[in-house]
Amino acid sequence: MCEERVRKAAALVRSSRHAIALTGAGISVESGIPAFRGTQGLWNKYDPAEYAYISSFLANPRKVWGMLKELYQIMENALPNPAHHALAELEKMGRLKAVITQNVDGLHEKAGNERVIEFHGRGDILVCLSCSAQYPIEKISLGTIPPLCPRCQGLLKPDVVFFGEPIPRFALEEAFKEAGLCDLVLVVGTSAQVYPAAELPYQAASHRSTIIEINLEETELTHSLKTLFLQGPASQILPRLVEEG
Ligand code: NAD
Ligand code: ZN
Repeated sequence: MCEERVRKAAALVRSSRHAIALTGAGISVESGIPAFRGTQGLWNKYDPAEYAYISSFLANPRKVWGMLKELYQIMENALPNPAHHALAELEKMGRLKAVITQNVDGLHEKAGNERVIEFHGRGDILVCLSCSAQYPIEKISLGTIPPLCPRCQGLLKPDVVFFGEPIPRFALEEAFKEAGLCDLVLVVGTSAQVYPAAELPYQAASHRSTIIEINLEETELTHSLKTLFLQGPASQILPRLVEEG
């Protein structure tokens, strides 16, 4: 971690008028939830073409539920890590106005952030594809997969966005509103390859927002947006921004 850059980033956050964060799977890796891309990523085990598209879910729900069940078992025990806590602290200090997350693990809310925009939906709710009833995940047994709607026996699907599905309208509108308002974005633990989420930093940069990126490795944003790049684990870097705050 480059101390000088961290101090520069902290000063920029301190002097910002409307800072927001965009987070991805990387922020939750240290809570034990694997990301999709990267060496430990889920996509090394599960081919996205077979598991990540809504068409693959509908074609073979039992197979895709096999992966989902594994993810739920991991998410059930996951706790926020110091990176999540630091973002909650920045919000309490009045330094951070919103978190836009691509994650579906609920860890920002658990850490105490109040304004969280869940761009890809929420994993703790299952929705019936036949009658639209919604159920908290803990009310539904995953003993037999795929789980079916207790009311109509329709297929249940996590209320998350698969490839090929639209972003929930409210989240889309709120996220782009924030990207239009902000003067600083903390982009944390995202490979910035999934659209339209990856458009948000470009939108912010188009009106001269500062983009600070925290990641283990450079991404496409690093050079295209000339981000202030802080290399290292989010759980070590974000708490430093609080300390310096
Ligand atoms: P991604 O898997 O494409 O990329 C993860 C990024 O995080 C990589 O750039 C990696 O270098 C970085 N990273 C890994 N560990 C890190 C750490 N400790 N500190 C900082 N950076 C770290 O993730 P994405 O860009 O969010 O896109 C994947 C999609 O998958 C998202 O849409 C998300 O909805 C979904 N997803 C969610 C979860 C979750 O809810 N926790 C988990 C896996 C995937
Ligand atoms: Zn139903």
